[in-house]
Parts: sequence; C-alpha cells; structure tokens
Amino acid sequence: MRLWLAVFLARAAGWASRVLGHGGSSLPGAVARAIAPSVLQELGRRLPSGAVLVTGTNGKTTTAALAEHLMRRGGRAVLRNQTGANLVLGLTAALIQATGWRLLPRADLALLETDEASVPRAAAELRPRGIVVTNFFRDQLDRYGELTHAVRLVARGLEALDPDGRAILNADDPNVARLGEPLRSEQVVFYGMVAGWGDPEDSPGDVRHCPLCGAELLYRRRFYAHLGEYRCTGCGWQRPPLTVAVEEMDLVHRRVKVRFGDVAAWVPAVLPGTYNLYNQLAAMAWAWSWGMAPDALGEALNDFRPAFGRMERTAVRGREVWFALVKNPTGFNQVLATLAAEPQAAVGLVAINDDYADGRDVSWLWDVDFERWLPRVAVRQWWVSGRRALDMAVRLKYAGVAAEALTIEEDLARALEGAVDSAAGRVYVLPTYTAMLALRRHLTKQGAVRHFRQG
Ligand SMILES: [Zn+2]
Repeated sequence: MRLWLAVFLARAAGWASRVLGHGGSSLPGAVARAIAPSVLQELGRRLPSGAVLVTGTNGKTTTAALAEHLMRRGGRAVLRNQTGANLVLGLTAALIQATGWRLLPRADLALLETDEASVPRAAAELRPRGIVVTNFFRDQLDRYGELTHAVRLVARGLEALDPDGRAILNADDPNVARLGEPLRSEQVVFYGMVAGWGDPEDSPGDVRHCPLCGAELLYRRRFYAHLGEYRCTGCGWQRPPLTVAVEEMDLVHRRVKVRFGDVAAWVPAVLPGTYNLYNQLAAMAWAWSWGMAPDALGEALNDFRPAFGRMERTAVRGREVWFALVKNPTGFNQVLATLAAEPQAAVGLVAINDDYADGRDVSWLWDVDFERWLPRVAVRQWWVSGRRALDMAVRLKYAGVAAEALTIEEDLARALEGAVDSAAGRVYVLPTYTAMLALRRHLTKQGAVRHFRQG
C-alpha cells in the first residue's frame, strides 16, 4: 500500500511539474523516497532480469544508449533513465515511470546510467546483475574531487553486485581494471583493444602510476589518454587478459574485428572516434555476456542512431549542423580530435554555461588542449556563447584564435542563428549540458530537430 502510494504520488508530482514547465525534475524520485524509502529496492526486485548500472567519467550515455539498442534488437523490453538524470533520485524516477498501476514493471530490465557518486547507494539498493565501467578521468574540479575517490565509490558499488552478476570492465584503463582484482574471474568481462587508431602525440594525462603499488606504468601501446596496454615497473601488475577485444580495424569500411571469447566477428564502428569505439565495446561486451551472439550484435548495430548531443548531425536551413556535448577536458579533446579528421571547412560554436549540471567552475577549459588541436581543425570562424562566453573567448585567444575570427554572443539562440547564417558549409556546435538543452529547445521550436530523442 505504501509502495503503491509512493508510486501514485510520485507520478502525480511528475505530472504537475511537467505541467508547470519544470521538465526533467528530480521531484518524482524525491516524493516516492519520502513516502517509501525502499521504493527503488522494491521496484528493482520486480524486474525479471534486474538492473544494470553503467558508470564511469565519460561515455555513460553513449554506452547505455548502445546497450539499450542491442537489448531491444535482442527482443528485450528495456527501461533506461533520462540522460543526465543519473543520481539516485533520477534512477528512482525511471523505475517509477516504468511501473504500472498494479506495481508490475513494464520492462524486463533496467539499464541505468549512474553517476559515480551514486553507485554505492544504487548498487546497495538494486543489487545489480551487471555493472559496466567505462573509464575514469579527472572531471570538473568542483564535482567529486579526486579521481581516486570516484574509483573507490565504484569499487564499493561492485561489492553489492549480485553473486551471479557481471562486472564489465575496461581493461585498458588501469583504474577500471584494478576494480576486477577482488572479484572472481567468472564475474568479470574485461574489454579492450589490441589494435586501434592510437595517437602517439596524445599524452597519458591523468594516470601514470600503478593503482596497486604507485610505481610508474609502462605502456606498450596507448590508444588514447591513459587507455592502452600497460605494465607496472614496480609490482609487475599488467593489463588483464581481454575477454572482448578489438583485434583489427578496417578504416575504409568503418568496421572493426572484435573477438568475443573464442569467436571473432566484424562489426560496424557506429560512431566516430576511439573513445566511442570504447563505448561501443563496453555495450557489446555487456550484451554478449548476456547471451547475444557476435553476429547478432553486428547486425543490430547497423541501424543505431546516436543520442542527442553525442555528435549528432542535423540540418538547419540547409546547413549541416553537428552537435557534440563537451563537459570535461578529455571529452573536449576527443571531440576536437574527431573534428580534426574532418577536412571540410566549417564554423564552430562553443557554448559554455556554468549551472550545477555543467560544473560551476569553468577553469577546466584551460585543461583542454586547444593549442594542439585547433591548428588541425578546419574551423576558421569561431562563435562563443553561453553565460561564460567571455571565459571561452579568452581561452580561444590564448590558443591563438585571432580577434577577427571570433564572435562573442552570449545569447545562445542568437549565437546559433548567427553561426548557421555565417556558415558556407558545416557548423560544429560544442555546448555544455544546460547550453545543449537550451539550444535544443530553440531548434525544436524552429521545428528543426523533431527527431531528436527525449532526454
Ligand atoms: Zn604496481
């Protein structure tokens, strides 16, 4: 009864907040947990195939979207939380949304993008059947502090993994790989790359030392940042053997040969960039561990469409507009690296807000390697926008962008319209989270992006 009341009132609160124009609020989750503190646990228990958490610094949304796509193609009913609603309240709201009036779930399985800080509690309540960990990078300075803190939080979550559950771990990231140390080998699926588009100039950045003993790590190959094949010079610890591995790349046909256990299959590389290949690998490793055959995975990927903001392409008044969310230095560098591979001339728009969801401290912009990437990106005109447009303008000036190549327009809608109008060809739009939402609202009003998914 209490549970039913919690679900009922949370639904009502969600409806009211939508009517009042506060979309995506955390209210339903908060209402439900106030009435029935164990609501997440109880609803989670009713899911026939349980819950899977997807966590890590970068790539959570893309990985969850890919995993959802694969599961649906595999014939399963999947529920997923809204993009960005990845704290415990957001997870609770997602499960409530997928629960009918008789308290029966409308999905077989919950696939939950989960913020690292929420992993311990979400795992304790849901006892997940799977935890997928993408990577650990230093995120915005004012969020969770030290990288090691995030690692510790996820390690605590893994302690609550269902005894028959699986941890899907990126073996190429030393801090993710170490999470497998206390687990039984049959509980872990390590994924990583044997062959890849490595960039020798790329710096290892955040991780240079062994997470077990602190000695220096030696890399035999690096695919990006600190992700690669490593060995510790002190204790001898090294990248664990890969269960799911990229073994060959076919750049011409944009496909990769992936080994799943003993079976290898060619699958399409559905998104640009090495970082996205890792996301795809995580999703595939998970789907495979749940019984999807390698051939079926490849087939299912053929019609995947990326989520809004993760390098989505759309058209505005005949111009090709690319959107890519930027939220931390590594992610921004990867977006720039992807743009550097595109020779076509374009106009760039960087939109920086500083709401809580964006990170209040924008000093992370100084950690983005503009000096290295801008000369390689075919953008000659830059627009900067958002509440921190001026900070961004200063950053671009320091990176060598001339004053006449820079337009400052704090109003997001006007900046987007201006960038589109001034472009002969493409427009690259690189917004932080709330700037992305505002730009999407603007475009939706113009009728340009009807097809973008909710989230
Ligand atoms: Zn070591």
